[in-house]
Amino acid sequence: MVLIKLDSASEMKGTNGASAPTKSAVLHRDLSEEFLSLSSTEGNYLILEDGRRIFDASGGAAVSCIGYRNKRVADATYKQIIDAPYCSTVFYTTKAQEELCRLLVDSTGGHMARAYIVSSGSEAMEAAIKLARQYFVELKPSQPQRTRFISRRQSYHGITLGALAMGGHKYRREKFEPLLMRNVSQVSPCNAFRFKAPEQTDEQYVARLAKELDDEFQEVGPDTVCAFVAEPIVGAAQGCVPSVAGYFKAMRAVCDKYGALLILDEVMCGMGRSGTLHAWQQEGVVPDIQTIGKALGGGYQPIAGLLANHKVIDGIARGSSVFVHGHTYQGHPACCAAALEVQRIIQEEDLVANVASMGQLLSQGLEKRIGGHPNVGNIRGRGLFWGVEFVSDKTRLTSFPEAVHVAMGISKRGLDPRYAINVYPGAGSADGLLGDHIIISPAFNVKKEDIEWIVETVVVRPNCRRMAVGLANGRLAA
Ligand code: PMP
Repeated sequence: MVLIKLDSASEMKGTNGASAPTKSAVLHRDLSEEFLSLSSTEGNYLILEDGRRIFDASGGAAVSCIGYRNKRVADATYKQIIDAPYCSTVFYTTKAQEELCRLLVDSTGGHMARAYIVSSGSEAMEAAIKLARQYFVELKPSQPQRTRFISRRQSYHGITLGALAMGGHKYRREKFEPLLMRNVSQVSPCNAFRFKAPEQTDEQYVARLAKELDDEFQEVGPDTVCAFVAEPIVGAAQGCVPSVAGYFKAMRAVCDKYGALLILDEVMCGMGRSGTLHAWQQEGVVPDIQTIGKALGGGYQPIAGLLANHKVIDGIARGSSVFVHGHTYQGHPACCAAALEVQRIIQEEDLVANVASMGQLLSQGLEKRIGGHPNVGNIRGRGLFWGVEFVSDKTRLTSFPEAVHVAMGISKRGLDPRYAINVYPGAGSADGLLGDHIIISPAFNVKKEDIEWIVETVVVRPNCRRMAVGLANGRLAA
């Protein structure tokens, strides 16, 4: 069940007069708050218990990609549950898992050799970390001294301890710092809006970041690093920030120089979200290991995974040939069946091409409509993955004080029946950099009218102290 948080219990009074539910038995993210309850869905709409009908302009957290209530996916999942709901992957595989992994491997143009299916993006990252380490242990001759990872600040790679250690999301890390792996160091992210000096060209900026990574390898010991880990488009920690041209090629070159692997985390930006099936296809590099998640199953089942290239798989095959990892529910048949159907629909309906063209409309519309607003610092993204970052002072790019909760305020305001739009809020990811932003990442099947409506609805009202999702046109909750 999807639950959406509101400001206070008083706001829980629904539009049809329903009163707030009694105390929840769920260990919610915030124990002091009541949450909205989702009762149903229709196309790209969320229908709440109180009757509200919300257009899901963020696909949850960039998850929903073919919309909701898809009968083909429901039928395929149901059939799998009836035929063979579960099997232990210690002994068995299923047609659903084999076909899904074949589809994924084939989608990489021969670069990737095998896919590994788990239940969440965090699990996919944990597996990626261990696969990279095991690769070097199994190499002949072995390189057991490779125990370190280099990742980037203001990043997010998941919530479990290994994945959390890779990420640089301050708020999500800080209470758990003493528990996190010590063998991870971080370099600067590539964020031209925030960190590129005005007089610097893209080439100079990339050269600076490549030198920083090279220096970090030197600092920790060039032959001690398993992998450099990065999101091709930074999602939750920065709000859809792509890198500047040439950045990933330069990072790949540094990894190659020191024999380290490149792990790209495409859990949020991958599987079509960026306008190509894999975001790395726009970067001119191929990772050694790639993680995928959200748009893999489009929310129909909990599913994520990793893809590993021939070098990594051959390394393991020539060693013990056993990846020492595994979960009870890995390769879950019903999850694989659902994801396979989602991916077939994406292919048959050419939805990745729709992402690219609708994404252009969305970016142009947002730029035209709110680009000039004094509190809109930056609009950036790719495909149907767009972030709007808010600033209190556009010349100095100052962020709003944390206590104002600008992004959360806008996101909550969107749930008001007058606007009835779901946008994803983000903030508090960075040391000294708040970067309040909203993410707009609708399903891949949106039409021109949907994009026009989103653009009209996400209006930042000028001179409004806390800013707000502004006046919507006639398309309100039905
Ligand atoms: N990596 C990235 C880039 C993500 O955006 C996320 C989730 N937001 C994760 C990993 C973790 O995925 P999950 O929440 O499914 O564990």
